[in-house]
Amino acid sequence: MTALGALMKNYDALFKPLDLGFCKLRNRVIMGSMHTGLEETKNGFDKMAAFYGDRAKGGVGLIVTGGIAPNLQGRIHPFGLQLSYPWQVAKHKKITNKVHKHDTKICLQILHAGRYAYHPFGATPSTSKAPISPFKARGMSKLGIKKTIWDYANCARLAQKAGYDGVEIMGSEGYLINQFLAPRTNKRTDEYGGSFENRSRFALEVIRSIREKTGENFIIIYRLSMLDLIKDGQTWDEVVTLAKQLKEAGVNIVNTGIGWHEARVPTIATMVPRAAFVWITERIKKEIDLPVVATNRINTPDKIEEILESGQADLVSMARPFLADPDFLLKAQANKSDEINTCIACNQACLDHIFQNKISSCLVNPKACHETEYTSEKVKKAKRIAVVGSGPAGLSFAVEAAQRGHQPVIFEKASEIGGQFNIAKEIPGKEEFRETIRYFLKQIEVLNIELHLNKEVNIDFLGSSDFDEVVFASGVRPRIPKIDGIGHEKVLSYPEVLYQKKPVGKKVAVIGAGGIGFDTSEFLIHNPDHISESMDKEAFFKHWGIDTDYKDRGAVTPKEKPAPFREIYLLQRKATKHGKFLGKTTGWIHRQSLKDANVNMLKEVTYKKIDDQGLHIETPEGSKVLDVDNVVICAGQYSDNELFHKFKELDNRPAHLIGGAEKSMEIDAKRAIKQGVNLANKI
Ligand code: FAD
Ligand code: NAP
Ligand code: SF4
Repeated sequence: MTALGALMKNYDALFKPLDLGFCKLRNRVIMGSMHTGLEETKNGFDKMAAFYGDRAKGGVGLIVTGGIAPNLQGRIHPFGLQLSYPWQVAKHKKITNKVHKHDTKICLQILHAGRYAYHPFGATPSTSKAPISPFKARGMSKLGIKKTIWDYANCARLAQKAGYDGVEIMGSEGYLINQFLAPRTNKRTDEYGGSFENRSRFALEVIRSIREKTGENFIIIYRLSMLDLIKDGQTWDEVVTLAKQLKEAGVNIVNTGIGWHEARVPTIATMVPRAAFVWITERIKKEIDLPVVATNRINTPDKIEEILESGQADLVSMARPFLADPDFLLKAQANKSDEINTCIACNQACLDHIFQNKISSCLVNPKACHETEYTSEKVKKAKRIAVVGSGPAGLSFAVEAAQRGHQPVIFEKASEIGGQFNIAKEIPGKEEFRETIRYFLKQIEVLNIELHLNKEVNIDFLGSSDFDEVVFASGVRPRIPKIDGIGHEKVLSYPEVLYQKKPVGKKVAVIGAGGIGFDTSEFLIHNPDHISESMDKEAFFKHWGIDTDYKDRGAVTPKEKPAPFREIYLLQRKATKHGKFLGKTTGWIHRQSLKDANVNMLKEVTYKKIDDQGLHIETPEGSKVLDVDNVVICAGQYSDNELFHKFKELDNRPAHLIGGAEKSMEIDAKRAIKQGVNLANKI
């Protein structure tokens, strides 16, 4: 093998086609089901066609759509999509036609929400209310069950008419079918409840009726809940028994489902180790004679290849990584995997948006789900543009501008690119943030962008330069609150702790409980000599009570909380719950993690002074002195934009302000990157 050959990664297992007999998948990668919110918007089908079409163009073997209900009761939201009537078929054809322009298959996911319905018409095996829904769902009559089975088959038949190559039956994550399977939610005493044979009857009848209505040459994927991760879930024997019956019922592919939505176990967030749940897919693969799909926190071609090559699974499903980069597979195939814009599993623009009733997108790729709003046209006149600062805002601007044909030149006063992402990546559980810096660094090389590190730009430099325009992406500076004794040697700023790694004592008060206060506390409770849980699967399983021996129903076991490395006080002036403003889908994990480490969360605090004794505070319970070794300030930031204002005063060339430099309130990387991309599309 040549030296170059040794460096080349061929991903043979990944790009090996899979023959299902009546159809062939061009490779082993499935784009997993994601509800994007486009389903419910104006011209949603045109937008979905563009969204899925781009991913098909990007080389994915098979796409599974977001969940579509088979009837009204099954909708997740009152206005959620449902496929039940022949007149709906033509709209879906827009999607299938676009995808089939490429050698990609597409399956419609049929999802009945059961008691997860966010409306009052929900139906479930036995009347109950899910902890994550405000509505009680009513128990189904036997007639209702028969009608629902018919609705599933009808939905599949209509999907076939619309040109879909198959359907995926959502049988996991705690939705209706899963509710039938688990004693937690199925208390029926008829032939659909009680014994496992009875509890699994609904799932099998659904599949049989779909197969009967759609014939042999139609893909049926079944999303099997392999780990319910809730009390009174299924046993491993029950999961295996059902898995074995799926083939006879008509299933072609078994996909992996992990954890009910109401489970208090992280399953896809960034602190979950990569490919953490592949072991359970591997176990089921040994039991059945059907292709199985590995899922959850798989985000690189190397990981996919490793899973497939080692025989742990036959296919790999990824969802969010295709929001982050529609060309993931084209890049892997061209041996350019270092050019992939990697999903960092933050959930900030995808899942969190869904919970806020917004259209999904992606923090690292704001064009995702907004394909029709951007053009890939090159600019007619290239401009030389100075970019001050290489945080997420400056980098995204520079890369997008260069892709459009401009000539950005980046100036960064630090010795490396990335801005505050260089601090964020130091937090245990946020290691994925390194990938975004790697991506931008590679783009700078590929697009030949001029980069000047260790170069602090000032007004004289800019004034005497010949740039056509200047983009100020100079970010933020930490706010230092006015507290008596703030200059005491005990006091440290968060960059001093997280980035400069200044020594910190065993007892610490953190002032400010925003995202950075939480992250700083997470950093401080960890022993720096231990690797982070997100890199250590065993430690992660123990902490979150995941029983890999599957001794009890649902595979849950008491948590083994790691011993905290420091004693922490996390303080805020507000009266609201700590972390109230953190992301909906990840905030609870951050809060739980700090609770597990016995972090003392104090609210309605007034800071009086800092001295040798420690931090003096007033609380509703009275005055206290926290006898801490250090006080770490995480009290927000203000914009670093003086240079911009000076430039505007002295120079009449166009100047732009983006990211934290434009507005420090609630600045995060999602806004910073989006502003960069949008500005580059306007200039
Ligand atoms: P910055 O990242 O601050 O970058 C500004 C850059 O400009 C810096 O590199 C600076 O050196 C440079 N610069 C300034 N002045 C000059 C000059 N005169 N000449 C040359 N260079 C200059 N956000 C999220 O969305 N999700 C998270 O999970 C998250 N976690 C975080 C965790 C921590 C611990 C921290 C500190 C931040 C986190 N953030 C997170 C916030 C996020 O990193 C910021 O919102 C984002 O980096 C802001 O981007 P920016 O480009 O506007 O500014
Ligand atoms: P932040 O969320 O605005 O929090 C600042 C904290 O400081 C608040 O808890 C505030 O609470 C306190 N504070 C403000 N002024 C103060 C003062 N003068 N004296 C004492 N306390 C004061 O800002 P941040 O934590 O610095 O985070 C910055 C941005 O980064 C956030 O907007 C966030 O979006 C982003 N980020 C996101 C994540 C994530 O996981 N998504 C993680 C980290 C950062 P009180 O006023 O109640 O005291
Ligand atoms: Fe991944 Fe975050 Fe983008 Fe969602 S927003 S796709 S989690 S990088």
